[in-house]
Amino acid sequence: MREDMLQPDIETMSRDQLAGLQLARLKEIARYVYKRNAAWRNRFAEAGVAPEDIGELSDLQKLPMLDKEGLRLAYPDALLCEDRQSIRELHMSSGSSGTPIAMLYNQDDLDQWAECMARCYRMAGCRPGDPIQITPSFGLFNGGFGMYHGARRAGLFVIPTGAGNTARQIKLARDFHTRIFTGVVSYGVRVIEELEKQGFDLPDLAIGIFGAETFSDSMKRRISERLGVEAFDIYGMTETGGVGTLGQDCPDHSGIHLWEDHYLAEIIDPASREPVPDGTPGELVVTSLTRLTLPVIRFRTGDLTRVLSRETCACGRTHLRLAPITGRVDDMLIIKGINFFPSQVEQALLEIPGVLPNYQIIIEETHGVKDVRINVEAKPDVTGFMVEKHLKERLGFSPKGDIFPPGGLPRQEGKAARVFHQPGAE
Ligand SMILES: [Zn+2]
Repeated sequence: MREDMLQPDIETMSRDQLAGLQLARLKEIARYVYKRNAAWRNRFAEAGVAPEDIGELSDLQKLPMLDKEGLRLAYPDALLCEDRQSIRELHMSSGSSGTPIAMLYNQDDLDQWAECMARCYRMAGCRPGDPIQITPSFGLFNGGFGMYHGARRAGLFVIPTGAGNTARQIKLARDFHTRIFTGVVSYGVRVIEELEKQGFDLPDLAIGIFGAETFSDSMKRRISERLGVEAFDIYGMTETGGVGTLGQDCPDHSGIHLWEDHYLAEIIDPASREPVPDGTPGELVVTSLTRLTLPVIRFRTGDLTRVLSRETCACGRTHLRLAPITGRVDDMLIIKGINFFPSQVEQALLEIPGVLPNYQIIIEETHGVKDVRINVEAKPDVTGFMVEKHLKERLGFSPKGDIFPPGGLPRQEGKAARVFHQPGAE
């Protein structure tokens, strides 16, 4: 019995078996949505395809894609495939751009979520009885409850602190010997600040599971060192059923294992929408094979990644590995003709010794011309020149900006806003 795997038979299934399972499930989910929902039937009809046209996995490409806008238009339940009486839970995306995206679950969907999440926990080294502190908020955001459902399935001791009140979080972690810390990346940084202020550490902490924000390697290293944890990058989103549904990295840290028995992944060129070969960066498109209430078929996640490997991993798992998410298709910034992502700014900033992991990227627009200002907290020996020179080397241009003393920039609870848009002087 392997302690690090919840379902060894599934997690180490041969690629051939996995492909067979995916094909059977793809046919089934296509027939299911077609039968259960008129909007899905219309979508198939517009694409000139019927469920019977799926004979092999590559026939997936005949099916229409679904994007976030399509899901917003379907709010609250136009793509519902289950009886209303069987619905058991609702979660929703934060909806920064207007109408939110709703996700509904029946009991099978909740069990599927818990299973995916519990696999992630076991893969990270969590064992039954381990105290786990869940710091994402419990509410419509899927983070808190998803981690809770999974923790129950994995037999962990749940400390459901939710968001905020960092001093109390630390007290509980000390008093109840928290071994596993979960949260958004920026909250890990907040906890480190509080620990430094109070002048102690949390010796029982061993595992940190972070998600919901892009996570640069340098940020990961800092959090691991300062919090004294092995950090894992968990992946999933409202539209796929929530945190952990898509997978996580294993202790080999060689990419995110995507749970391929539940999800079918494609990487496409976001402009042409054509598939790209393994290794080439592109947008992740996901089909949920086992979700019943609101399944997604060929959902364009907007997340940029690439397939790192389909070989068996050092951990023994056969499920493919994706590169950590480098950014979102719609987050890409173009300043003075140079394309970059906020995560690249973070990576570059944290390579400078003495720079602290709190920063702001401010996009200023004057008469249609965009410029960028980067404000960052740093220790007193860091100069503006040092920051400017390094960013020039790494990003190819020199942003304006200011250095703030530690604690000088505003803090937020929950997901950190890093990028701000403001009109410049006319
Ligand atoms: Zn692995």
